[in-house]
Amino acid sequence: MTIRDIPRRTASDLADVQVNPYEMMLQQLDMVREYTEIPDGIWKILRQPERALEVSVPVVRDDGEIEVFTGYRVQYSSARGPCKGGIRYHPGVTADEVKALAGWMTWKCAVVNIPYGGGKGGVSVDPSRLTQRELERLTRRYTAMIYPLIGTRRDIPAPDVNTSAEVMNWIVDTAGVLGGEATPGIVTGKAIEMGGAAGRREATGRGVMFVTLGVLERLGMEIGDARIAVQGFGNVGSIAAQLLAQHGATIVGISDVSGAYHCPTGFDVDDALRYVAQSPGHLLAGYQAPGVEEITNEGLLCLDVDVLIPAALEAQITARNAGNVQAKVIVEGANGPTTPEADLILGERGAVIVPDILANAGGVVCSYFEWVQNIQCFPWEEQQTNQRLGSILQRAMDEVWALAETRGVSLRLAAFILGVERVAAAIQMRGIFP
Ligand code: NAD
Repeated sequence: MTIRDIPRRTASDLADVQVNPYEMMLQQLDMVREYTEIPDGIWKILRQPERALEVSVPVVRDDGEIEVFTGYRVQYSSARGPCKGGIRYHPGVTADEVKALAGWMTWKCAVVNIPYGGGKGGVSVDPSRLTQRELERLTRRYTAMIYPLIGTRRDIPAPDVNTSAEVMNWIVDTAGVLGGEATPGIVTGKAIEMGGAAGRREATGRGVMFVTLGVLERLGMEIGDARIAVQGFGNVGSIAAQLLAQHGATIVGISDVSGAYHCPTGFDVDDALRYVAQSPGHLLAGYQAPGVEEITNEGLLCLDVDVLIPAALEAQITARNAGNVQAKVIVEGANGPTTPEADLILGERGAVIVPDILANAGGVVCSYFEWVQNIQCFPWEEQQTNQRLGSILQRAMDEVWALAETRGVSLRLAAFILGVERVAAAIQMRGIFP
């Protein structure tokens, strides 16, 4: 069977598919096939990562015991520029998850039209079990193991789930020691003192805010009337919640791995952020405030809200719970939070989904700005960064919206068509080596 023969799927056809993120990414890719004129040979290239590395990462624990973790770095495509994508520390990291995330990075960079391909990395580890010094040793050894692949002009990592500016600082230092030269542009999301961009930490959440305002405006909904629930109160979710509350939205649900909370009158997001900053493990567990009640994670996803922002991990809205999700608009802060079958169920009842490859692109756009500043050794003001971020996302949103209207497809399909066609065009123009 060629890719052209793959039948169009319905929700019931897909209900049996196991949630493997790479399978999920390929299903999304295959749905684009019938809407494009991309030749079969180019499709074969688009469905495979260019390069995938698996590494062993031995770490000496503080008590002298040796533990060995498995790490990955995947370069999905370099057709449009150097590979770009974060590094995740999580016990659920697998080769297929990293491949999927690297694929989504490829389409995302193309949708917002920045000169990058896509990559991703990760280590299968629960970082909450490591001390700070163990985490540093893990990061430095993992960096050494993927060092042959990464580089300012080759592949540029950034933070993702459970990795911070501090982790990026250790990567810059380790690469500098191994290479014998200063290479601040080898990662983005570093501390500002080390060449990081002012505004990068907030950029993904700020981008989620921009696209949420954009979609509500297009749907004729007022932000001041919007009731919003956010799953995941980490970097992306907490900042999106904070900025949307500042724009007048009522944040009625927040959650993290430790629990979910509902406040019908609206959370004081700054108060929740202060609580998390001081709590053990930086978690919401035990959060109390007037009007706040604890609910289940599932309950949070199914709240009667205008906007749901899943900003935790992939495969949170599935065929199992999509029928109970009530939000009119879903803005995907996380990568891959909605499975293809859930996507169809939600689409059938008219929910508008702003896909991850557009909704959370603010992070990589700002990473691109950081990289440009590192290469030019010329830092910008934060205001300039935020303005340029807004205009790039605005243009991408306009293009995706217009394509969805002219082709009569969902925003996800429109974003995939736009991104995949741009990558395919670059592959065709380059030709196949040798
Ligand atoms: P983070 O580690 O800062 O936050 C993740 C949050 O999700 C934490 O609050 C965690 O407790 C919560 N969480 C984990 N499992 C959960 C569960 N089962 N239920 C509810 N909450 C749960 O990570 P982040 O950087 O905010 O990334 C979140 C998502 O956004 C990921 O999918 C990531 O790939 C994506 N993303 C991040 C960036 C970025 O710049 N950080 C950019 C683009 C996309």
